[in-house]
Amino acid sequence: MLLKNCKILKNGELEKVDILIKENKIEKISENIVLENMDKEKVINVKERFVSAGFIDVHVHWREPGFSKKETIYTASRAAARGGFTTVMPMPNLNPVPDDVETLNKQLEIIKKDSVIRAIPYGAITKEEYGKELADMEAMAKDVFAFSDDGRGVQNANVMYEAMRLAAKLNKPVIAHCEDNSLIRGGAMHDGIRNKELGIKGIPSICESVQIARDVLLAEASNCHYHVCHISTKESVRTVREAKKNGIKVTCEVTPHHLLSTELDVKEDDGMWKMNPPLRSIEDRKALIDGVLDRTIDIIATDHAPHTLEEKTRGIEKSSFGIVGSETAFSQLYTKFVKTKIFSLDLLVKLMTENVAKIFDLKDYGKLEEKKLADLVVIDLEKEQIIDVEKFLSKGKNTPYNGEKVNGIPVLTICDGKIVYIDRDEIEER
Ligand SMILES: [Zn+2]
Repeated sequence: MLLKNCKILKNGELEKVDILIKENKIEKISENIVLENMDKEKVINVKERFVSAGFIDVHVHWREPGFSKKETIYTASRAAARGGFTTVMPMPNLNPVPDDVETLNKQLEIIKKDSVIRAIPYGAITKEEYGKELADMEAMAKDVFAFSDDGRGVQNANVMYEAMRLAAKLNKPVIAHCEDNSLIRGGAMHDGIRNKELGIKGIPSICESVQIARDVLLAEASNCHYHVCHISTKESVRTVREAKKNGIKVTCEVTPHHLLSTELDVKEDDGMWKMNPPLRSIEDRKALIDGVLDRTIDIIATDHAPHTLEEKTRGIEKSSFGIVGSETAFSQLYTKFVKTKIFSLDLLVKLMTENVAKIFDLKDYGKLEEKKLADLVVIDLEKEQIIDVEKFLSKGKNTPYNGEKVNGIPVLTICDGKIVYIDRDEIEER
């Protein structure tokens, strides 16, 4: 397959090239590639649109096995491909929880059968994510990306310490949803200004940051690579920054919605705005942006969390936590951060590709280079689109951003040398 007239980033500048794909690898990237047997090759003119390495999302909820009324691996993988993602890591809060080889295999079988993109699951840290006994980490290690009890914080410090010691031995990271249950206080949104106006109990910032502070010390003691999920408060950013300064192996991710919105965007008692961690204050959002700019925050991950509409329309207190993000992440961030010159295009792309590969040592992807796997996405940076949940490929229509105008729309996604998403109104195959 030959992609003609691509614009790729080289040292931060856009450069015009052709990209030749042979089987599942990028064979050649150079100016004006001409092939002898051009008529036999599939040629796609991408018409000077932007081409990036396929995005990597280390935080998605694909809901199978167990919760296929919310989402299936079939729909989730197509939604991710539509958003430009070619590799994702599905979280283990499933039924059954992948906590040993047998339960993990149930998930792997569905991935193999139904996913159009690469999906490398997590193994749970503890049995059934109960936080008590360690999962069979050793036996799962060869098939999992890392270990996480996402959806729940590991409450017991000794359990977390033992998990980190074992993970370090297995050369796997521990990825933590940080939440101290004793500090949730029945909250459903950030404990700040808006929750008081709406009369809804608040989740204080310390609920997250206290556990991160504990965990970075455990990571230091165990020499484990510790990665913080969906960081949301200024105290959390400060704690990670200090830990990095002290040489502790800690990395962290931020979601698009925590970069885009604050508690003040929650105008009414609408469950679509309910997520965990909640949208925080204006100062917290500013700390997250500063954290991205000074590299305290390493990567962006969506926390794509589909639910049924019924589960999201019961008001904030009674709705489920989480919003979808696979199909809107890049466009929203491009529109709100790159077009406004807060982030460069190069930085945004790195946060979703190269940096992810770098911190997790994923050698074959994350970079658009000869001999790497042919994972890439073609994006129309100028194209304007209204976010329309009815057009989502995901079963989850739960986002508060429906109706928003965005630019930077993926029009073609190739994973492992195969087309996994194509907008036929924009791209012609020959
Ligand atoms: Zn989480």
